[in-house]
Amino acid sequence: MVCMHSSQRRITSKEEWEERRRLYGERWRSLPNSARVPGQLAGRAAVGCGATHHVMERCNFSCTCCYLGPQANQTEPLPFEDVAAQLDEIRRRLGPRGKTQITAGEVTLLPVDELGRIVAYARSIGLDPMVMTHGQRFLDEPEYLKRLVQEYGLEKISIHIDTTQRGRRSVGMVKEEGELTEVREQFATLIRDVRHETGCRLSAASTITVTEDNVEQLADVVNWFYRNADAFRLLSFQPVANVGRTRRLHESAQVRDVLWKQVNRASGRPINEAPLSFGHPECNRTVPLLIVRSGERVRLFESVRSGNQFDANVLSEAIDVFGNRVRWAESLGINVWRTLVCLLKHPRFLLKAVIYGIVRLVSEWRFFWGVLLDTVLKLKRTRASIFLFVVHSFMDAKEMDTDIGKERLDACVFKVPVDGRFVSMCEMNASELRRTIDSRLRKKKPSSKVIEEPGR
Ligand code: SF4
Ligand code: SF4
Repeated sequence: MVCMHSSQRRITSKEEWEERRRLYGERWRSLPNSARVPGQLAGRAAVGCGATHHVMERCNFSCTCCYLGPQANQTEPLPFEDVAAQLDEIRRRLGPRGKTQITAGEVTLLPVDELGRIVAYARSIGLDPMVMTHGQRFLDEPEYLKRLVQEYGLEKISIHIDTTQRGRRSVGMVKEEGELTEVREQFATLIRDVRHETGCRLSAASTITVTEDNVEQLADVVNWFYRNADAFRLLSFQPVANVGRTRRLHESAQVRDVLWKQVNRASGRPINEAPLSFGHPECNRTVPLLIVRSGERVRLFESVRSGNQFDANVLSEAIDVFGNRVRWAESLGINVWRTLVCLLKHPRFLLKAVIYGIVRLVSEWRFFWGVLLDTVLKLKRTRASIFLFVVHSFMDAKEMDTDIGKERLDACVFKVPVDGRFVSMCEMNASELRRTIDSRLRKKKPSSKVIEEPGR
C-alpha cells in the first residue's frame, strides 16, 4: 500500500533554514546557566514544543490524576478559527517543523473531520503535529485513526495508558499496571495495522502518569515497551503533579527516585538517567536507547553510559553537528544524506565518531556478537529500533513559586499560546489560567461538534 499523502514537508527554502537558526539562537540565549548542560537539546536541536488548549476540553474519562479544571466538561469546544489562530502563534514561536501537541481534554471526542481539519491545517503551515489521546476512540473505531492518517496526514500519536485512568470500558477499574498489558497489545497491533493498511508513517508514543501507587509496578511495563519498540518509539513518564482535578496529594519527588530504579530493574543494569535534557534538567530528562530484538531476546545499547565523559562529549558534539540538520520525521534516505554531508563538513568530529564506534564495538563485543549470532547463525528475526525514555516532571503551584521553579519556567520548552502570550504548560495547569479559560467557554447549549457525551 502506498501512502496517499506526502510525508511531512521538508525544510527546503533558505528563509526557513535561517528562521530556524535564528530561533535556535534566541532559545539558547534565553536559557538560564543551569540549563546549559552538555546534553541540552533546546536551542541546539529544537526550539521547544507547543500545545493547543481547549480544542475539546471535555473528556469522557475521569482519571484520578488529571490536569483539567473542574468545569472542563461543561465547556464548548473552540471554533476552528480559534484553534487555527493558536497554531499560527505556535508556528511563529517555534518555526518550521515546530513540534505541536494537538491536545486539550480529549480531542478525539471531535468528529474525525473536525480533528482531521486541525491536523491538516497544522501541517499546511509547516508544523509537526502529534495527537494526544487516551486512545479509546481508536480502539472502538479503528477507521477513525486510519482516516486521520490517510486523509489528513497525521504522522504522530501519543496514547495515555495507565492505572490512574477511569473510563476504559474494556478493562474497567484496574489496580495493577499488568492488567493493562492486553490494552497496550491492542494499541500496538492497531498501530502496526494502520501503518500496513495505509502505507503511511505513523510514529507512536505512550504516556504514563506515575504515582506512589503504580511506580513499583513499572519494571514489567518498561519490559513490555522494550519488546514492542517497533510500535511505540517513545515512553514518557510523567510523575504526578498536584494540579487540576487530581484527587489527592501526591509526593512527586519520591516517585521520581523509585521510577528510575524500576527502569534499571527492567534493563538489567543501571541506565544513564539524563544523557539529554530538553529545557531545565529538573523538568525533562531524555534517554535514547537502541533496542535490538532477536526473536524473544531483547538487547539494549546506550549511546551515553553512566559516568562516561567520552560518550557524553561525543553526544554533545553530535547535537551541535546534526541538531539543526537531521530530523527523525523525515525519510531515512534524506537523513543518511544529511548525516554524510554533516560528517564531511566536520572532519574532526568524524574522527571522534570513528574512535567512539571502535571503542564501543570492542567494549560491547558481547552485544554485537550476540546480535550477529542470533541473526546469522540462529536465523532469528532481528529488529532494531531507536527508543526514547522521557521523564517530564510537571510542577504544582508550590513548586512553581520557588527559585528553582522560576528558573524552570524561564527554561520551559512546553508552552501554550494564550491571549498573545506563550505560557508554560505548568502555568496553564497550576495557576488559575485553565479555569479562567474554562469559564469563558462555559457551554450555553449542547454542542453539535461532540460525538460522545462525557461519561463522568
Ligand atoms: S484521559 Fe484522563 S487525564 Fe487525560 S484528560 Fe481525560 S480524564 Fe484527564
Ligand atoms: S511545562 Fe513545566 S515541567 Fe514542562 S518544561 Fe515547562 S516548566 Fe518544565
